[in-house]
Amino acid sequence: SHLFVLLALIAESNRLYARLALSTAARNRERDTRMMSMDAVAAAISHEVGQPLSAVTLSASAGLNWLDREKPDRKKAMEAMRAAIDAGARTFDVIRSIRASFAKGPGAATEFSLNDLVRETVALLDREMAGRKVSLRLALDDELPPIIANRIQIQRVLINLLTNALESMDAIRSRPRRISIRSVPFDGKDVMLEISDTGAGIAPEKMPHIFEAFFTTKSTGTGLGLSLCRTIVEEHGGRLWASEGEEHGATFHLQLPRSSPAL
Ligand code: ADP
Repeated sequence: SHLFVLLALIAESNRLYARLALSTAARNRERDTRMMSMDAVAAAISHEVGQPLSAVTLSASAGLNWLDREKPDRKKAMEAMRAAIDAGARTFDVIRSIRASFAKGPGAATEFSLNDLVRETVALLDREMAGRKVSLRLALDDELPPIIANRIQIQRVLINLLTNALESMDAIRSRPRRISIRSVPFDGKDVMLEISDTGAGIAPEKMPHIFEAFFTTKSTGTGLGLSLCRTIVEEHGGRLWASEGEEHGATFHLQLPRSSPAL
């Protein structure tokens, strides 16, 4: 009977040990996932805030350059300063909307014209496009119905898609660099926006991965832009996908319901 008790004790302590080991592993795993998501959040914030913030720096230094000349160009300097102020305001908007996306409850959805938002957003990227010698072709359908959505979030999506398009054309020398944006009513109840570029395009083997978080082919990329874009669009009841461009480059398709479900 002594042997029996001893064996039972050993078995029990083994079980206890196994349980302890399991729960420690679970705790570590939980901590790892928490750390991972903190990491992802931090990367997302720096990605989202980094874009308008670097526009502030660029515009402000452009302003200084216009003033720091033998014949300072006051008008150009003021233009650049205004662009810096706009980009600063945009940084705040982005921070507010990041806070709003963590807050529970409905986001600020308003009714607006996607065409107007496109025009406003490309105007923000005007300098950047001119600097990179990229031309723009707009084919916006006047019959497009308005949508109900969070305007700031949809603008983040557009800025991300346009910035990617610009970056994809950096190395292109042999053909015109062009971004084309087309809007059309879709399926009677949705609106569709197509953003095409004449850039490097997306290799077929990469196509299934580009919307994954942390997938990037850029040396300084975070791989978060498209995954954030898709999350935002799907939260609005829409869809976002990519296809090969008509000639060269890539096309991104953004489909949004004309009146979005509860946000
Ligand atoms: P990042 O821009 O930081 O790499 P994204 O999630 O925005 O992250 O994009 C993921 C990848 O998808 C990019 O690294 C690039 O390979 C590819 N990609 C995105 N947009 C385009 C585009 N317009 N043309 C070609 N490739 C693109």
